[in-house]
Amino acid sequence: MNPFWNGRQNMEKIIEVHGLKKNYGSVQAVKGIDFYVEAGKLFAFLGPNGAGKSTTINIVCTLLTKDAGTIIVDGHEVDKDDGKIREEIGIVFQESVLDPLLTVRENLQTRGSFYPMEKNTLEAAIESAMRTTDILNIANRRFGTLSGGQRRRADIARALVNHPKILFLDEPTTGLDPQTRKNVWKTIEGLQKEHGMTVFLTTHYMEEAAMADYVVVIDDGLIAAKGTPAELKEKYSTDSLQIKPIDADAVRNLLKTNGIAFREASDLLIVDIGRTVDALPILRLLEGNIGSLQVLNGTMDDAFIGITGKEIRE
Ligand code: ADP
Repeated sequence: MNPFWNGRQNMEKIIEVHGLKKNYGSVQAVKGIDFYVEAGKLFAFLGPNGAGKSTTINIVCTLLTKDAGTIIVDGHEVDKDDGKIREEIGIVFQESVLDPLLTVRENLQTRGSFYPMEKNTLEAAIESAMRTTDILNIANRRFGTLSGGQRRRADIARALVNHPKILFLDEPTTGLDPQTRKNVWKTIEGLQKEHGMTVFLTTHYMEEAAMADYVVVIDDGLIAAKGTPAELKEKYSTDSLQIKPIDADAVRNLLKTNGIAFREASDLLIVDIGRTVDALPILRLLEGNIGSLQVLNGTMDDAFIGITGKEIRE
């Protein structure tokens, strides 16, 4: 038997969603979706605004009731075992839920008091959550005085106090500057890679989605695509051959007479190609007329547009 297939058979589905539907009055927000999340993986749930992401996450996290479908979270069924599910998940909302006037530590202690833990165990859990998110040095600062990235890490620490198996993050890096975004992303990746946590996130940043193990794209309440980032790029985006010609007219003519479609941007002639190796016959044809060239691989941004026909922030 193919060893890869065998490997996939052994994987554990920690979240399974079957036939999920949710309406808000006459708005069909989620129209019947199926997907699963493998344990210990970084899972990205993508879609344009209004696609149904928050509705789906809120239902999986037991915060909102569904109209139809079955959802199993680590062996527990949503609507039947909600208490058990809540013990096993952590949630980081788009908007922080921490108190700006309390210190980071006080915020986590307040949160921890909801869990049935001994005082010592709770203190250890809080230390561990702060260490994992690299905020021990700001434990005694008031939350309201922190920078955007520090706040986000404190929000994540709050969600870790009960040692969740699955962490849900709704757009965890939105609104942060690029450097801070990278730092917060490193924290999130570390939770999955070093601590084996299952991470379920939504993001508007395709460069983050490209680092996920698996991606599901929802559009207009339905699943529009599923796959690894590499699979989605392969299927929904194209590579492009970008040529800076020595003699532009000669290159244009050669492309035209050979029926090769191209576009122009600044001083470049661009040919969309299915795969990188498809550049070879074109390069042979244009030999002697090429000043410089590069082959650009399709990106997750291209794939997203290919799947939904929309920019993610449209
Ligand atoms: P996303 O998170 O992908 O932006 P949502 O799940 O928030 O999408 O929304 C999906 C659809 O449901 C949208 O059309 C949105 O306007 C609608 N919707 C979401 N929440 C509510 C609500 N509480 N009441 C009415 N309509 C809602």
